[in-house]
Amino acid sequence: MTEFKEMNLKRDLLASLENMGFREPTEVQTKTIPMILKGKDVIVRSKTGSGKTGAFLIPIIQNLQRGDHQSALVIAPTRELAMQVHKVAETMTAKTGLSTTVVYGGASIENQIRNLRKGTNVIVGTPGRILDLMERREIDLKSLKFLVLDEADIMLDMGFIEDIERIISRTPKEKQMMLFSATMPDMVVKLSKKYMRTPSRVTIGNEEELTVETVFHSYAVAGNYSKVATLLAYLTEFNPTKSIIFSHTKRGADILYEVLREHGYDAAVIHGDLSQAQREKSLSTFRSDAKYLIATNVAARGLDITDVSDVINFDIPEDPYVYVHRVGRSARMGASGNAMTIITDKEVSLIHEIEDSANIRMSLIELNKEPFKHVGFNYTHRKYQNQNRDGRNDGFRNQRRRSNNSSRPRNRNRYQFERRNRS
Ligand code: AMP
Repeated sequence: MTEFKEMNLKRDLLASLENMGFREPTEVQTKTIPMILKGKDVIVRSKTGSGKTGAFLIPIIQNLQRGDHQSALVIAPTRELAMQVHKVAETMTAKTGLSTTVVYGGASIENQIRNLRKGTNVIVGTPGRILDLMERREIDLKSLKFLVLDEADIMLDMGFIEDIERIISRTPKEKQMMLFSATMPDMVVKLSKKYMRTPSRVTIGNEEELTVETVFHSYAVAGNYSKVATLLAYLTEFNPTKSIIFSHTKRGADILYEVLREHGYDAAVIHGDLSQAQREKSLSTFRSDAKYLIATNVAARGLDITDVSDVINFDIPEDPYVYVHRVGRSARMGASGNAMTIITDKEVSLIHEIEDSANIRMSLIELNKEPFKHVGFNYTHRKYQNQNRDGRNDGFRNQRRRSNNSSRPRNRNRYQFERRNRS
């Protein structure tokens, strides 16, 4: 299969794809679309950025008729991902006469109800809001034909299993179910066994090569300097064209944002404590002009920002899978990218864990941190001065101490873990 034209798609759908610049299907689309068109349930394991949204939306749109009311439901883990999938669905249905609606928490439910009442063929949403609207009888899944669980591993990781099972339990048995996931932890496998009808499996890339091959993976050790100094040294030396900087905590993200702005960097910040409007504003600032987006893990999952050159882990992820998800932000669709992780000298063993799990090699880079030696643990932006109960002006140090205290014992052990079999 080389072109969408050879897939016998409806003319208006083909025209929309053409408008989007989609001529040839990506690998996941080539393998998945024909199976879905044949009516099969599918479990698709594919890397982030592989074109998976099209892999489920194209066959769904192909099979839906205008009169199919609330007939396809896509469940996504975060509002941003839901909005992103909805945007793709809107563009793909533009010439087809089909309509789509997006529903998510943190935004006016009345507007969403109004949109649903206008009549919709495809609903995209996050689990909590979908359930809420089902309880209000605004969403009725009794004639559902297609159910998609997008980024299923992340949804289960975020604790949505009960919500998802409640939603599935109110859908008809005779429907087609599609599960997309970058990784296949036990919970995802169990869910698929419980609800799917002899699903076909599609795997893009093998398990050991979860991460995109074109990424250059590196790490820098803060050593005697602070992690903030290390970050500033990296930005000065490498001047990345567009980066997402991951912080472990929301407060850490806010502080980094202030630090970067103070040093003249064009930055935006996104995390769960910001209002929906603020999050959207940050994303659009980052998409248009800001070079840096500081984000917590959950806020940035699954986002499709195409031209990210660097993923910077200001805090090393505790789980190698999280590293892979984050790095999926850069090097989308085959472009090259950089992933850089900042660690303290106690965290070197975590680097080796990631290398082993993701089957990659990470290069140690040396940076000139000296010019930033004054920026660090005792860095205090005026915004954070005098806000500690004990009156000390050490916002950043307290931030770090708090995040260390909150790490679970399992992780603390992992930090102390000595690798034995390493050559
Ligand atoms: P996804 O993995 O669905 O988030 O897609 C990643 C990126 O690939 C998005 O920017 C899509 O617009 C783009 N994309 C998906 N499918 C195709 C295709 N067949 N041709 C060109 N670009 C595509």
